[in-house]
Amino acid sequence: MSDKQTRTEAEWRESLSPEQYHVLREQGTERAFSGALVDNHESGVYRCGGCGQVLFSSAAKFDSRSGWPSFSEPVSAESGRSVSDTSLGMARTEYRCSRCDGHLGHIFPDGPAPTGQRYCINSAALEFVPEGATGK
Ligand code: FE
Repeated sequence: MSDKQTRTEAEWRESLSPEQYHVLREQGTERAFSGALVDNHESGVYRCGGCGQVLFSSAAKFDSRSGWPSFSEPVSAESGRSVSDTSLGMARTEYRCSRCDGHLGHIFPDGPAPTGQRYCINSAALEFVPEGATGK
Protein backbone atom coordinates (compact mmCIF):
# COMPACT_ATOMS: atom_id res chain seq x y z
CA MET A 1 0.00 0.00 0.00
CA SER A 2 1.47 3.29 -1.03
CA ASP A 3 -1.34 5.55 0.17
CA LYS A 4 -0.12 5.92 3.73
CA GLN A 5 -2.41 7.94 5.89
CA THR A 6 -0.74 10.31 8.28
CA ARG A 7 -2.44 12.89 10.46
CA THR A 8 -1.31 15.00 13.35
CA GLU A 9 -2.32 13.84 16.81
CA ALA A 10 -4.70 16.81 16.99
CA GLU A 11 -6.36 15.70 13.76
CA TRP A 12 -6.70 12.14 15.05
CA ARG A 13 -8.28 13.42 18.25
CA GLU A 14 -10.79 15.34 16.21
CA SER A 15 -11.72 12.48 13.89
CA LEU A 16 -11.88 9.65 16.46
CA SER A 17 -14.01 9.03 19.54
CA PRO A 18 -12.07 9.12 22.84
CA GLU A 19 -12.09 5.32 23.01
CA GLN A 20 -11.01 4.90 19.39
CA TYR A 21 -8.23 7.41 19.98
CA HIS A 22 -7.06 5.61 23.11
CA VAL A 23 -6.84 2.25 21.33
CA LEU A 24 -5.61 3.31 17.88
CA ARG A 25 -3.22 6.09 18.82
CA GLU A 26 -2.22 5.27 22.40
CA GLN A 27 -1.97 1.46 22.13
CA GLY A 28 -4.88 1.13 24.53
CA THR A 29 -6.86 -2.04 25.17
CA GLU A 30 -10.60 -2.07 25.73
CA ARG A 31 -11.93 -4.13 28.64
CA ALA A 32 -12.61 -7.77 27.79
CA PHE A 33 -16.17 -8.41 26.60
CA SER A 34 -16.84 -4.65 26.50
CA GLY A 35 -16.49 -4.21 22.75
CA ALA A 36 -19.41 -3.98 20.34
CA LEU A 37 -18.06 -6.56 17.89
CA VAL A 38 -17.07 -9.43 20.19
CA ASP A 39 -20.27 -11.37 19.49
CA ASN A 40 -20.89 -10.10 16.00
CA HIS A 41 -21.56 -13.11 13.76
CA GLU A 42 -22.77 -11.27 10.67
CA SER A 43 -21.09 -11.72 7.30
CA GLY A 44 -19.05 -8.79 6.09
CA VAL A 45 -15.70 -7.12 6.42
CA TYR A 46 -13.94 -5.33 9.23
CA ARG A 47 -12.26 -2.06 8.34
CA CYS A 48 -9.75 -0.02 10.28
CA GLY A 49 -11.58 2.48 12.47
CA GLY A 50 -8.85 4.99 11.79
CA CYS A 51 -8.47 5.00 8.00
CA GLY A 52 -11.06 2.58 6.60
CA GLN A 53 -8.62 0.04 5.17
CA VAL A 54 -10.18 -3.43 5.01
CA LEU A 55 -8.41 -5.63 7.55
CA PHE A 56 -10.38 -8.79 8.26
CA SER A 57 -13.21 -10.89 6.79
CA SER A 58 -15.99 -12.36 8.88
CA ALA A 59 -14.92 -15.71 7.40
CA ALA A 60 -11.75 -15.59 9.53
CA LYS A 61 -13.54 -14.57 12.76
CA PHE A 62 -13.83 -17.20 15.46
CA ASP A 63 -15.00 -17.35 19.05
CA SER A 64 -11.84 -17.33 21.16
CA ARG A 65 -13.75 -16.66 24.42
CA SER A 66 -11.05 -14.10 25.16
CA GLY A 67 -13.46 -11.17 25.20
CA TRP A 68 -12.06 -9.54 22.07
CA PRO A 69 -12.90 -10.03 18.40
CA SER A 70 -10.55 -12.75 17.17
CA PHE A 71 -9.47 -13.64 13.67
CA SER A 72 -7.33 -16.48 12.31
CA GLU A 73 -5.86 -14.35 9.53
CA PRO A 74 -5.98 -10.88 7.97
CA VAL A 75 -7.47 -10.27 4.51
CA SER A 76 -3.97 -9.83 3.16
CA ALA A 77 -0.39 -9.84 4.39
CA GLU A 78 -0.15 -6.19 3.36
CA SER A 79 -3.09 -4.89 5.39
CA GLY A 80 -1.23 -4.90 8.67
CA ARG A 81 2.20 -5.21 10.19
CA SER A 82 3.60 -6.88 13.29
CA VAL A 83 5.59 -4.96 15.87
CA SER A 84 7.47 -6.36 18.85
CA ASP A 85 5.84 -5.12 22.06
CA THR A 86 7.54 -5.55 25.43
CA SER A 87 5.31 -3.17 27.39
CA LEU A 88 3.71 -4.28 30.67
CA GLY A 89 6.58 -6.74 31.20
CA MET A 90 5.31 -9.10 28.50
CA ALA A 91 6.80 -10.11 25.18
CA ARG A 92 3.95 -9.76 22.73
CA THR A 93 3.45 -9.12 19.06
CA GLU A 94 1.49 -5.98 18.38
CA TYR A 95 -0.57 -5.71 15.20
CA ARG A 96 -0.97 -2.38 13.42
CA CYS A 97 -2.83 -1.11 10.37
CA SER A 98 -0.30 -0.75 7.54
CA ARG A 99 -2.02 2.34 6.18
CA CYS A 100 -2.48 4.64 9.19
CA ASP A 101 -0.20 2.79 11.65
CA GLY A 102 -3.08 2.58 14.11
CA HIS A 103 -2.78 0.04 16.93
CA LEU A 104 -5.31 -2.77 16.43
CA GLY A 105 -4.41 -5.40 19.00
CA HIS A 106 -1.99 -8.31 19.36
CA ILE A 107 -1.23 -11.61 17.64
CA PHE A 108 -0.98 -14.78 19.73
CA PRO A 109 0.17 -18.22 18.50
CA ASP A 110 -2.81 -20.09 19.97
CA GLY A 111 -5.33 -19.74 17.15
CA PRO A 112 -7.13 -22.46 15.22
CA ALA A 113 -5.67 -24.49 12.33
CA PRO A 114 -4.51 -23.97 9.68
CA THR A 115 -2.85 -20.66 10.61
CA GLY A 116 -2.54 -21.30 14.34
CA GLN A 117 -2.73 -17.56 14.81
CA ARG A 118 -5.12 -15.48 16.89
CA TYR A 119 -5.41 -11.86 15.87
CA CYS A 120 -6.85 -10.42 19.07
CA ILE A 121 -8.32 -7.10 17.97
CA ASN A 122 -10.08 -4.31 19.84
CA SER A 123 -13.65 -3.61 18.72
CA ALA A 124 -12.85 0.08 19.08
CA ALA A 125 -10.18 -0.22 16.39
CA LEU A 126 -12.62 -1.73 13.89
CA GLU A 127 -15.59 -0.74 11.82
CA PHE A 128 -17.87 -3.54 10.64
CA VAL A 129 -19.37 -3.32 7.17
CA PRO A 130 -22.14 -5.91 6.59
CA GLU A 131 -22.06 -7.87 3.36
CA GLY A 132 -23.86 -6.00 0.61
CA ALA A 133 -23.52 -2.61 2.27
CA THR A 134 -21.95 -0.01 0.05
CA GLY A 135 -19.47 2.64 1.02
CA LYS A 136 -18.65 3.64 4.56
FE1 FE B 1 -5.80 2.28 9.46
